[in-house]
Amino acid sequence: MDYKDLANVIYPDAKSIEYYEEMYKPRNLAQGAEVTRFAPSPTGFVHIGGLYQCIINRALAKQTGGVFYLRIEDTDQKRKLENGVEQIVQALAKFDFVPDEGMISENEGKGDYGPYKQSQRREIYHAFAKYLIERGLAYPCFATPEEIEEIRKKQEAAGLRTGFYGVWAKYRNLPVDEAIERIKNGESFVIRLRSNGREDRRIKVKDAVRGHIEFPENDQDAVLIKADGLPVYHFAHVVDDHLMHTTTVVRGEEWISSTPLHIELFNDFGFKVPKYAQVPSILKEDDGKKRKISKRKDPEAAVDYYHKEGIPSDAVCEYLMNIINSSFEGWRKGNPDKKMTEFKMELSKMGVSGAVFDMVKLLDVSKNVIAKYNAKQVYDFAYTWAKEYDEELAKMLENEEYALKVFGIERENSKKPRKDLSKWSEVKNNIIYMYEAPTEFDFDKITGEDAKKVIEEYLKVYNFDDDKQTWFDKIKDVAEKLGYAREVKEYKQNPDNWPGHVGDVSTVIRVALTGRRNTPDMYEIMQVLGKEEVVNRLSSVCK
Ligand code: GLU
Repeated sequence: MDYKDLANVIYPDAKSIEYYEEMYKPRNLAQGAEVTRFAPSPTGFVHIGGLYQCIINRALAKQTGGVFYLRIEDTDQKRKLENGVEQIVQALAKFDFVPDEGMISENEGKGDYGPYKQSQRREIYHAFAKYLIERGLAYPCFATPEEIEEIRKKQEAAGLRTGFYGVWAKYRNLPVDEAIERIKNGESFVIRLRSNGREDRRIKVKDAVRGHIEFPENDQDAVLIKADGLPVYHFAHVVDDHLMHTTTVVRGEEWISSTPLHIELFNDFGFKVPKYAQVPSILKEDDGKKRKISKRKDPEAAVDYYHKEGIPSDAVCEYLMNIINSSFEGWRKGNPDKKMTEFKMELSKMGVSGAVFDMVKLLDVSKNVIAKYNAKQVYDFAYTWAKEYDEELAKMLENEEYALKVFGIERENSKKPRKDLSKWSEVKNNIIYMYEAPTEFDFDKITGEDAKKVIEEYLKVYNFDDDKQTWFDKIKDVAEKLGYAREVKEYKQNPDNWPGHVGDVSTVIRVALTGRRNTPDMYEIMQVLGKEEVVNRLSSVCK
């Protein structure tokens, strides 16, 4: 009995790996085209770090005329969530991430390299495991949890590294006959790598973000296939990224220490090792210390959070691009109207130490992103958001014609469009006075009867049809008539000469109309409110 017999007993029906090589031919892409993938577990949850990886993946694929695909890594059946794939697909779609290939719904994939869900690739993994067993590069291991525990304890007591390696790999040298016997008896087993690595030898790994990293070789007889017949991450990564012809593996830095094992596996099969880009985690400042942003503690770790808050997807993506390549900020300043995807992202320019997530900065990016939208875009985004999250706002926005005028204030024809919105959840408060007359008036300098007088005088001269210049001249006239300085400049030269200036007068009108001291352009506001509403609001203050 030899390894071939053993392999046949374990996987009697497995096909040859050539069969799959034939089936998944190299992709027909130009030289230099990068094939990337996002490979989450189907937990239904997309972490902000996952979105950040997607941005990198998409940029690499787009920049080189390659392919970006979505693979679902569901070999850990415990972590699976009902509808988890669908939720990931939907969450990505909200950020405009529709991968070129891969899973497109809970059970459907698109493309020639599927299935794109690992639990549906069982036979493929078995074929590749069989190949290794036949060559003596993998073997069945029958260790029970108790045996594993015992080995660990002995290693710890002796101050040694834990794990299955060298003499500690208990079933590594089990005679083939005995192994076959045990399998035939129905004993449970896993498949382990028979590692040829040595801890005292070093290998160099090239990482596209970090440059060269040196490690000891892998010498662990790592589990490749679990007792349930599904592979562990390491094995699935090697098989899938080979067969799907991934050129560039973008993944979290937590995988760096496993790269020697992955390289050993690629070498055992004689496959080309892909380019690795192991990207730093997104951090959070907590009590003066930096830590990984966490799904458990931080609501902003889930991409759904941004959607609920109404932070535009474009803003989240632009902010993340700032983290990925700090040169993006300068590029954006120089190219305010270009699509983000036109920026050339470079892995070698990524920081290696992990960026701290900064909500203030994100909202600032968001303000700039929203400032570039026209009234119709703002309306569509805000209304869509409101229909899902804020019934009252949705009602307000039902009259599209009016809402477009409201959102057009200091936006449509303005050289410097307003920047007072960073998320859709701010819209209601931002525009409420265009829908409801204010009930509280906190005038600034000119108050009480003096304020009423200002409004009475203004009502006498107000004419809806005035152009902006005439409109402003009339406010100056009112100021002058009531003994305030007509120009701010003259007031500043001799402040003791007047009780206030034209600015104070217009503040009274502004507060009377909107209840606020700061608003966008008052002339535009009055035009949108309309003659009747303006007169009503002003008159009611004088009563
Ligand atoms: N499923 C792995 C994870 O979620 C994927 C890592 C990879 O991209 O290779 O961490």
